[in-house]
Amino acid sequence: MCKLQGLNLSDDKVFLNANLKDYLTFKVDSMVKAIIEPTSVKELIIAVKYCNENNYDYKVIGNGSNILPIKSSLNLIVITTKKICKQAKKHKGLVTFSAGTYICEAVLWCKNKGLSILEKLYGLPATIGGAVVMNAGAFGGEIFDKLVSIKVLENGKVKTLKKSQMKYSHHNTSLIGSGQIVLSATFSFEKCSKAEIEQAIKDVLAKRRAKQPKGYSAGSVFKCVDNIPAGKIIEDAGLKGTKVNDAVISTKHANFILNNGNATYKDIKILIELVESYIKKVYNIELKREIEYLGEQDDSNRRLPYSH
Ligand SMILES: Cc1cc2nc3c(=O)[nH]c(=O)nc-3n(C[C@H](O)[C@H](O)[C@H](O)COP(=O)(O)OP(=O)(O)OC[C@H]3O[C@@H](n4cnc5c(N)ncnc54)[C@H](O)[C@@H]3O)c2cc1C
Repeated sequence: MCKLQGLNLSDDKVFLNANLKDYLTFKVDSMVKAIIEPTSVKELIIAVKYCNENNYDYKVIGNGSNILPIKSSLNLIVITTKKICKQAKKHKGLVTFSAGTYICEAVLWCKNKGLSILEKLYGLPATIGGAVVMNAGAFGGEIFDKLVSIKVLENGKVKTLKKSQMKYSHHNTSLIGSGQIVLSATFSFEKCSKAEIEQAIKDVLAKRRAKQPKGYSAGSVFKCVDNIPAGKIIEDAGLKGTKVNDAVISTKHANFILNNGNATYKDIKILIELVESYIKKVYNIELKREIEYLGEQDDSNRRLPYSH
């Protein structure tokens, strides 16, 4: 591909034959056809419509903190929401954030206004859009708890979806695979003193630091099994510290795989498969992945028939 002909965005927002590495918290190499970096919701809509109209497979990503590419080269255009100018708005007892806003930015913005909203998720390296799509959660809270509605782009049209129009459960929503692109999300909040919110943030950060390792990862690799943390099962199996080259099962939290610097997507995938097959063999438990493989058949956001 030499140019995205007809895409109405400036050249400094379009990177052809680009490496996804810096867009993923796993920091592994994987080439894609192009990476588009819209800087506004309007430009995000332009990019998505362009891909739909030209029948390009594409994937909208946030901070890439739940994604492992599984090929060295992907036939995809990636559109990141990370560079979208952060927008936050308080209106009629609600707050709205644009999809590319980081969770931490949203919490701090609210804190400065004395609004309690998503403190339990503080420290999650996610965007609002990515967290809504996955119904991210931590320490007994989920992003859907205070979600009121979202704006999505669907079939080229912007529409509002109320919470009641979406299905959601632990780390799962009906948005996954729907082809709907989240543009913004609106939440309710509670009035609270800044000091109380600050304390809540400190408490959550302390818990996160105590439980989770530092380093390049995509958070928990596997889902809970009947409410038993996958990390406990993997730890009990004695797999902490198991390595494939620079991919290693954290010694602090057995459900985290770390890239110690030079791990490839293959190293991480082999390690994931090794854990899956060992746990199946020893306990007859089928672990389900929480992280998303990018490059599996049919994982493009170009899902729904597009009407011009
Ligand atoms: C250190 C670490 C700790 C973590 N801890 C937790 C935790 O405590 N709890 C938890 O739930 N998760 C955790 N995670 C995983 C991850 O942060 C969450 O899954 C998060 O929701 C992903 O957000 P993201 O913006 O990075 O999305 P991405 O990883 O970029 O994308 C995730 C999915 O959402 C889709 N998507 C993203 N933005 C949009 C959009 N605007 N419109 C449509 N689709 C979109 C993507 O296509 C993809 O399918 C952790 C990850 C790391 C690295």
